[in-house]
Amino acid sequence: MSPGQAPGPARGPGVEIYDTTLRDGSQQVGLDLTVEDKLRVATALDALGVDVVEGGWPGSNPKDAEFFARASEIQWRNARLAAFGATRRPHRDADSDPDLAVLLAARTPIVTLVGKAWTLHVDEALRTSRAENLAMVADSVRFFVREGRRVVFDAEHFFDGYVADPAYALEVLAAAAGAGADTLALCDTNGGTLPDDIVRVVRDVVGRYPALRTGVHCHNDAACAVANSLVAVGEGATHVQGAANGYGERCGNADLFAVIAGLELKRDHELLPPGGLASLAATAREIAEVANLPFESRQPYVGSSAFATKAGLHASAIARRPDAYSHVDPAAVGNRSHVLVSELAGRSNVLVKAAELGLDLSDDPALATAVLDEIKNAEHRGYAFEAADASFELLVRRVAGGRPEWFDLEGYRVVIEKTDDGADRSEAIVRLRVGDQREVAVGEGVGPVHALDQAMRKALAELYPQIADIRLVDYKVRILDGRAATSAVTRVMLTSADQGGEWTTVGVSDDIVTASWEALADGISYGLLRSGAEALVPARA
Ligand SMILES: [Zn+2]
Repeated sequence: MSPGQAPGPARGPGVEIYDTTLRDGSQQVGLDLTVEDKLRVATALDALGVDVVEGGWPGSNPKDAEFFARASEIQWRNARLAAFGATRRPHRDADSDPDLAVLLAARTPIVTLVGKAWTLHVDEALRTSRAENLAMVADSVRFFVREGRRVVFDAEHFFDGYVADPAYALEVLAAAAGAGADTLALCDTNGGTLPDDIVRVVRDVVGRYPALRTGVHCHNDAACAVANSLVAVGEGATHVQGAANGYGERCGNADLFAVIAGLELKRDHELLPPGGLASLAATAREIAEVANLPFESRQPYVGSSAFATKAGLHASAIARRPDAYSHVDPAAVGNRSHVLVSELAGRSNVLVKAAELGLDLSDDPALATAVLDEIKNAEHRGYAFEAADASFELLVRRVAGGRPEWFDLEGYRVVIEKTDDGADRSEAIVRLRVGDQREVAVGEGVGPVHALDQAMRKALAELYPQIADIRLVDYKVRILDGRAATSAVTRVMLTSADQGGEWTTVGVSDDIVTASWEALADGISYGLLRSGAEALVPARA
């Protein structure tokens, strides 16, 4: 992409989706992207079909400048790149402002300029005159328009500014529009504005600038970022800024994926290219992986629990009419529904759940009863299968007699070493039998569970090379009966993943290491089952 390409919206006059994951989204605690990561995220967003990818703030750090240099070599399919920066410095010529020069050097077709729209910030943060702030906005916008760039003007703190001094906030927009900005993005920078106020303000601005794009940039501090974005579009906004998975500082930016799904499925907007919406869930997960952040299972539309129903008496009704229990078809966003098994579950729930896993128990009432008894028994001892699909499936396969075994445990020993210099470490020796072979391995780790995991992997690596693709992604411990203090029962939930997805296993014991081993062994067994690895333990009669 180069400045030579015509600036302007990628697809017609519809609503433009503007992603700021790489700039505003990466302000999130714990989110730290390398240039390589940023290119991967941009590529995923481009493949999804967003209109604009804001790559960063080249004036603020060299990493962003490098991103733009490398991004300019890539042939983007759907997205145009935007570079972000602030208006010129007070009492300075735009032509000689070094920050504007760096922004220009990013060579993006779109330049997004942020300027102050709230008098409090002009007076107290910028500490310059209100007239000078208006001149800074107009000069900076004009500078980039003259260079052939499309300018998006981000009016910072616009909604708070509109409440405090509407005339001045509108003057700031007029300065940007008069200088040639083609998009006026109204920012709820502090994120506290509620939908009815968004409606009132957006309506006013859209009415004043019918020929320009009015946009919104919402933060989620009042849990309204997505709602605010949706109602703004309802009032005629045609540009929405947000971040993948709602990433962003404090409570996050508007979750762009929920905005896209809401507008496409419920308001008939065509935002993504054909087929784009069906890859929404996969894109959300991919970006979470690159960001190295846990993927929120309750995330609307795309989370793994977004369409998971805990069935009481109505599991068979859910199976018959899934549309009666979910607000949209999960497949529309590339997600799927599933039924959770719980202690309250009756026979029909277990049948539905087993069928979902491809195990048909309906022809064999005796087997169904045996499975149900086994589940009730296990739940009584503290197991919870509603989130542990993989352990449920292994249990059903074991009761049904068709479960392959990849290894048998002969024993393990764990040594926990605590030192006064804080260099604590654990060592585990695991002894396994695989058919008539005996495998013994030592593993070291930061704690006993990590050491056991390492030892087990080492012991099995040669016989089952597929194990290298299985990773441990989450480990949760819960004490089930706090009253008994140290004799309480421990439940471990462990999530593992491979290229194709993730699965959760459960272990229960009055000893945390034993509970962890159980969940680990199930996690590896299930991973091997998924991988199609041939089980080397002979089937038992
Ligand atoms: Zn922001």
